[in-house]
Amino acid sequence: MNTDRSAQLLDRARTIVPGGVNSPVRAFRAVGGTPRFMASAAGPWLTDVDGRRYVDLICSWGPMILGHAHPDVLAAVQDSAAKGFSFGTPSENELLLAEEIVARVEPVEQVRLVSSGTEATMSAIRLARGFTGRTLVVKFAGCYHGHVDSLLAAAGSGVATLALPDSAGVPPESAAETIVLPYNDVAALEAAFAERGEQIAAVITEAAAGNMGVVPPSPEFSAALRTVSRRHGALLISDEVMTGFRCSRSGWFGLAAVGNEAPDLFTFGKVMGGGFPAAAFGGRADVMAMLAPEGPVYQAGTLSGNPVATAAGLATLRGCTDDVYAHLDRVAHTIADAAGAALAAEGVPHTIQWAGSMFSIFFRDSAVQNYNDARDQDTAAFGRFFHAMLEHGVHLPPSAFESWFVSASHDDDAVAAVLTALPHAARAAASQSRPGAS
Ligand SMILES: *Cc1c(COP(=O)(O)O)cnc(C)c1O
Repeated sequence: MNTDRSAQLLDRARTIVPGGVNSPVRAFRAVGGTPRFMASAAGPWLTDVDGRRYVDLICSWGPMILGHAHPDVLAAVQDSAAKGFSFGTPSENELLLAEEIVARVEPVEQVRLVSSGTEATMSAIRLARGFTGRTLVVKFAGCYHGHVDSLLAAAGSGVATLALPDSAGVPPESAAETIVLPYNDVAALEAAFAERGEQIAAVITEAAAGNMGVVPPSPEFSAALRTVSRRHGALLISDEVMTGFRCSRSGWFGLAAVGNEAPDLFTFGKVMGGGFPAAAFGGRADVMAMLAPEGPVYQAGTLSGNPVATAAGLATLRGCTDDVYAHLDRVAHTIADAAGAALAAEGVPHTIQWAGSMFSIFFRDSAVQNYNDARDQDTAAFGRFFHAMLEHGVHLPPSAFESWFVSASHDDDAVAAVLTALPHAARAAASQSRPGAS
């Protein structure tokens, strides 16, 4: 396959950008080969600089829920950009986006906009510490909450695919403020709180884990997160940066938490920016009132609530109708069913797990409950599968520890292209070596 131009650009990029990429998972380290430099994208299709087209099953790691360059979002962006790029004052778009979020996620009474998911979780942790006057934070192995120092312990896909135990450069004091527990383990949660409950400011969890591959919480685990944290006076932060507005119109909360009690704080990102840098944290009004300028917890951002980014996010959320969610579910199941059938036909061990329309294929034959399970899979088989899909014009996330994402624009043509590629990829996964591997 001709990848000359991508290879040239990567060589140039490597000399001036570490690893040639601006975010590590883009580098193909886990699967080998040359990452494709994209030139353009439309609907469900990516086009690289060598002129090859791919069905996109990354969707920018979630945000492109309506598909690339959706006409309504494009019009909103163009209209907003023509009126100025950033004011450094309040503007109406930020209010409209905040109202849309609050309307969709019932327990969110107030929200503060930021520019990335990392900023959202970092700020939510500071707020929880300010509110409780405590320091410790509980997180779960395999959950990723952005590259916040204290949350980089056992942080899932990015570090997992690079086989780094954790990040260098995180002071031991930061790591010591974090208690890392296994996901879906009620006994471990209860034991940690029994030991240090009065020092714990917050429990932060991915609403449904997506950064170790998709691992939904068991109902018992979800219930324990709420009751145990509350009993000990700690806040519960549900990180919906990936699941928010994707699993349902109200995210994972809308899908699974009906009848359950609400978390105290939520974090959002990805879909709510529609491909632009916009993210948020929000929740209980009495907790949010601790934020400056109302309260003593400082938090700020030059580009927070940027008018163009919020226009894109608002147009995207407004486009996320019930029909869109039904379409995502249908397309995701069609693709996952076909992938399962193709792998089964070749005798490749696999397990498919779901959170709404997010799904992952683990290359092992039993269910994944936590990070240890997720790591116990045949990542080499995934690498062969990935490259065969790529050769047949389908771009999967380049790691076995990721969700696959579909969009409203994945139409019959795009799905047909995926279904055509799958048997080739299953055969490659079943074979012992990948021809043409580099
Ligand atoms: C992507 C992600 C983040 C980080 O968001 P960025 O915008 O990349 O900083 C945080 N939490 C979860 C669950 C995510 O999936």
